Amino acid sequence: MSFYTKLVSGLMFPLHEKLKKHNTVAIKQSLEASQWWPRDKLIAQRNLRLQRFIQKVCEHIPYYRDTFAQLGLTPADIQSPADLTNLPFLDKQTIKDNFEQLKDPLATSLARFNTGGSSGEPLVFMLSNERVSHDVAEKWRATRWWNVDIGDKEIVAWGSPIELGAQDKVRLLRDKLFRSTLIPAFDMNEEKILAFIEHIRATRPAMLFGYPSVFDLIAKTANQHGIDMKNLGIKVAFVTSERLYPYQRENIQTTFGCPVANGYGGRDAGFIAHECPSGNMHLSFEDLIVEIIDPNGNPLPVGEKGEIVVTHMATSEFPFIRYRTGDIGALSDKQCDCGRTLPILESIEGRSTDFVIGADGTIMHGLSLIYILRDIQDIKTFKIIQHSVEETEVQLILKNAADLHDDMRHAIIAKFQQRLGEQVSINVHCVKDIPAEKSGKYRYVISKVTSA
Ligand SMILES: [Zn+2]
Repeated sequence: MSFYTKLVSGLMFPLHEKLKKHNTVAIKQSLEASQWWPRDKLIAQRNLRLQRFIQKVCEHIPYYRDTFAQLGLTPADIQSPADLTNLPFLDKQTIKDNFEQLKDPLATSLARFNTGGSSGEPLVFMLSNERVSHDVAEKWRATRWWNVDIGDKEIVAWGSPIELGAQDKVRLLRDKLFRSTLIPAFDMNEEKILAFIEHIRATRPAMLFGYPSVFDLIAKTANQHGIDMKNLGIKVAFVTSERLYPYQRENIQTTFGCPVANGYGGRDAGFIAHECPSGNMHLSFEDLIVEIIDPNGNPLPVGEKGEIVVTHMATSEFPFIRYRTGDIGALSDKQCDCGRTLPILESIEGRSTDFVIGADGTIMHGLSLIYILRDIQDIKTFKIIQHSVEETEVQLILKNAADLHDDMRHAIIAKFQQRLGEQVSINVHCVKDIPAEKSGKYRYVISKVTSA
């Protein structure tokens, strides 16, 4: 560990977190110990935590106070994860419909967030200091599995203009302090990708962090230009927010000469699972209860694939209880060689978003088109299909009373042409239904050009 890393992880980061009223350092220390506990002890501790969490939620959150009353339940009826099945699921619509009733009226630290991922319908929700502290502590624990600590140089490739907008002065200062630099991976042409490659070579980061699709693209470009990225001292590439395909892992690993560590989670559901050096995805078991359900909402046994449902116990001021992620996965009962007792999540099929390609050859993350539609109030959901470089189709389902008037159509066409090229034909129309893919997942952007 370098002197600078020691200084940051031991002194500056704890101070920063303290100023932000985050309890991260204490949480991380406790997580570092509990990851080795015997499974029985982990489970007993988690049951206690669940009971306390439910007690607090019933005392403070109007929505759950009413729900428990309607169901004739008391907090004492929830003793372990199995009892959670007595409670309803929480989905995006329920959060939208009960937003005010889901807040603790006494909460002082709630901040508004929305999902920046690739799901078509944005979800607005609240995060508390408690929840953010747990997210940061879990990420910190997972980076240490790979011998990377806070304060080590990090390059983050991120695509959301919302996150880029958040690059205010405080954020810039923090990034400088923690030696984290951001690559805006929103729309990329070869020239920009080559500049990123130069930036990575000059920075020599200890870790890469971001979308697998973006690091795969950077790796491909480096290879095409015969640029060696192997000996930069990169210890690990953390990838998250998208499904990681085996060919991407292979390509990133070979090109950067470092292992790839997959992470699964989101701003909404939290830091759910992370890959350890033995190749398994360990759950953030102390903080989370993960259930796997079939399409009718029935719990599935260990080993069977279904929708991932999460209860996050650090969310007492805006609870996520039985939250439906829309992602598909299975729990595993195998033991990991690394010795950590945290249970394992297997075969996650997260959301996937394709790249799209502009008429001039610019490669863009699918999010660059998703954001155009997400900003339009009357749109309920959508699907974008890039049939060819010359033609893109936009399927829309509008909210109840809305109709696809000319202004909306023209605005969408103009913004799509701004990104894809003036000469590109954009066919916008309404549909009755947008079916899921065979895997059961919705894909909001499909490019027949880049996936061919
Ligand atoms: Zn492990």
